[in-house]
Amino acid sequence: MNYSLQGFAFNQIRRHLKSVRILATIVIRQDNTVTMVDHSTTLSPEPIPIIDPAEPFPGRKLVRSWLVPLCGKRTALPILMIIFDFALFFGSVWATLWFSSGIAKILAGMVAGFVIGRLFILGHDACHQSLTPHRKLNRVLGRIAFLPSLTPYSLWDIGHNLVHHGQTNLKGFDFVWAPYSLEEYQALSPGRQWLERIYRSGMVPGLYYFVEMWWLRMYFPTKTYMGAQRPAFVWDGLLVSAFGLVWVVILAVMAHVTHQSLWLTEFTGFLIPFVFWNFMIGFVVYAHHTHTRVAWYDNKVEWTKAQPFVSTTVHLIFRFKVGALMHHIMEHTAHHLDMGIPLYRLKEAQDFLENHLPGRIVVQPFSWAWYFKTARLCKLYDFKSRCWLDFDGKRTSQPVASFGA
Ligand SMILES: [Zn+2]
Ligand SMILES: [Zn+2]
Repeated sequence: MNYSLQGFAFNQIRRHLKSVRILATIVIRQDNTVTMVDHSTTLSPEPIPIIDPAEPFPGRKLVRSWLVPLCGKRTALPILMIIFDFALFFGSVWATLWFSSGIAKILAGMVAGFVIGRLFILGHDACHQSLTPHRKLNRVLGRIAFLPSLTPYSLWDIGHNLVHHGQTNLKGFDFVWAPYSLEEYQALSPGRQWLERIYRSGMVPGLYYFVEMWWLRMYFPTKTYMGAQRPAFVWDGLLVSAFGLVWVVILAVMAHVTHQSLWLTEFTGFLIPFVFWNFMIGFVVYAHHTHTRVAWYDNKVEWTKAQPFVSTTVHLIFRFKVGALMHHIMEHTAHHLDMGIPLYRLKEAQDFLENHLPGRIVVQPFSWAWYFKTARLCKLYDFKSRCWLDFDGKRTSQPVASFGA
């Protein structure tokens, strides 16, 4: 470790940059991490510029190089986070049995659903190989953290890491909340049109996730939805099925032992957590990439020019530390720019990007009014004019200007 190099870098940066606080944090943190040796050699002593909104976009490779110091991974911290969240999960499911009031049982079930989301977010990082520095350990931790959400690890890996991250908001590839064009919508059967209206009503993001993402594409998918077949897909499907079965059976035994209603016990201890989780993740993946300022593309050349790793993603800001409670999954621009940044450093990375690329990143303070307005405006998409439409084909947003250089 070359401390003098880092000291030099630190002083250079302090003289030249307004954002010294963020970069100083980066440097100081590296002194305490195993990965500091690698990163010290890549930390440039050159000041990192703040790119004026009128200047050409600097390009993903360069921007990623600025974030290299934030890619350092830890081992004990994420393991402790998983243990802590599993304790919360088991504690809240146990609370659904312990409380006698039906309302309290339901609330405990909702807390369990939220904690399933937290565990899933830890598993999401592991699946990106960004949770710890150890690949095999990440694969094991990811599978464990995915269990309560019944997420088959290898299928999530394909659908998310390859498809969603590789081609975000590129129609025909990225399927997550991909909008129909007016022509495509009009060619749908009346039943499918009705389902699309339900999905995009803003009321049931969990239904979309459950049907379109989990049931069709992750839980023993048919060849229509997953062309390739691998033994790992089946094993991961069986693993989450076994976990779900054990969960339901333990609840049934506990209902019998504690002389409680079997159906109420299963409803509050299993169904509510699972339904809440589906709503939470359905909402999260919708809000990450659906916004009137965010474009969809059906042409790979145009998509590539548009700096899609930054321009297609929303940073949704919550009050009351809700973002931190969700393990910073909403700091999504930094995550799309470099999936190697672990969740415990995403906030710094996002702050850094927003300071250095002012005006380039879609930042949206969350409110339910904003969410339902977005759901009202973003029904179909005009891929030529690059604007959102309602179900009658009327424009509901301004065309998104080209974002690239
Ligand atoms: Zn991801
Ligand atoms: Zn995303």
